[in-house]
Amino acid sequence: MSKRDYYQVLGISRDADENTIKKAYRKLAMKYHPDRNAGDVKSEEMFKEAKEAYEILTDSNKRAAYDQFGHAGVDANSAGGGGAQGFSDAFSDIFGDIFGGRSARSNMHRGSDLRYNLEITLEQAAHGTETKIRIPTMDNCDTCHGSGSKPGSSPKTCPTCNGHGQVRMQQGFFSIQQTCPKCHGSGKIIAHPCTACHGVGRIKQQKTLNVKIPVGVDDGDRIRISGEGEAGLNGGPPGDLYVVVHLSAHSVFRRDGDNLHCEIPISFTVAALGGEIEVPTLEGHAKIKVPDETQTGKIFRLRGKGIKGVRSHDKGDLLCHVIVETPVKLTVRQKELLEELESISLKDGPRHSPRAKSWMDKAREFFSE
Ligand SMILES: [Zn+2]
Ligand SMILES: [Zn+2]
Repeated sequence: MSKRDYYQVLGISRDADENTIKKAYRKLAMKYHPDRNAGDVKSEEMFKEAKEAYEILTDSNKRAAYDQFGHAGVDANSAGGGGAQGFSDAFSDIFGDIFGGRSARSNMHRGSDLRYNLEITLEQAAHGTETKIRIPTMDNCDTCHGSGSKPGSSPKTCPTCNGHGQVRMQQGFFSIQQTCPKCHGSGKIIAHPCTACHGVGRIKQQKTLNVKIPVGVDDGDRIRISGEGEAGLNGGPPGDLYVVVHLSAHSVFRRDGDNLHCEIPISFTVAALGGEIEVPTLEGHAKIKVPDETQTGKIFRLRGKGIKGVRSHDKGDLLCHVIVETPVKLTVRQKELLEELESISLKDGPRHSPRAKSWMDKAREFFSE
């Protein structure tokens, strides 16, 4: 049995207000109320499910816990248990020790949460994607549908405890409850174990899941897939699957939040005289007008050419960092021209190199002190 998402149960969006939650619940409660559907097991289940979802989502603390941790945040193996999982566990530990034995219910165990590391490209993160992943998981046995009994046979009610999972013993003043030694608390005896899972009811399987990666996810973001963790034990709910996103390094862009950075090498002629250059963007190409006298380190900002983050309203920017490149593998003729340029420039003094001039001035001051 897989526990459905509470918002899904009520058919409301994740940001629904209390009024909407109440309305949705009232509608379902009317439809599935046991008084109207006497004896209909399915309706009863739907009613209980809606009631639970309503109770959690109208309690602001529980709702916050659920939003953050999913079912793990609100249900401590028992439906309607205390808000925090730790609390009701501690509760049953304390009272379990004093009065002996746990209730049959505490043998229900929620399945473990699973973590899956998913590496995606920057493009996939920027545009969103859908991908299939394969995960190893302990899932309900297909052969026996989790019962642990051979198909055709069914578990028998434990004769020692009559299916309660507990036995009562009178000890002086106290009547003490203990976990049934025959069925170990499950209340059932499996006479003919399923051959596929050896009576465990769970089996190791590879499962393929479709994962929707929302637009704008960033490195380290977690996507919770409710109920796709390991199956629970003894009818407990399954855990959740957390897909942790890792961005692979990109050959051109570096991401910083919603902004992208890239390096743009330009020739020193373009840097000196100005010109138009083409730069890559995630959507294709864009043109930048490089003004004359552009220096290394200058940043051109292309607005809206970054990424729209999951929690952002607008797209970030693309920041192009200019690097003026020194020419290499020059021909004799090219060298001659450069030498000529240099000799003409020298006659003009340092005015063509403002940065070198100010550096020289500072250095001179430094040495004269
Ligand atoms: Zn089985
Ligand atoms: Zn028993």
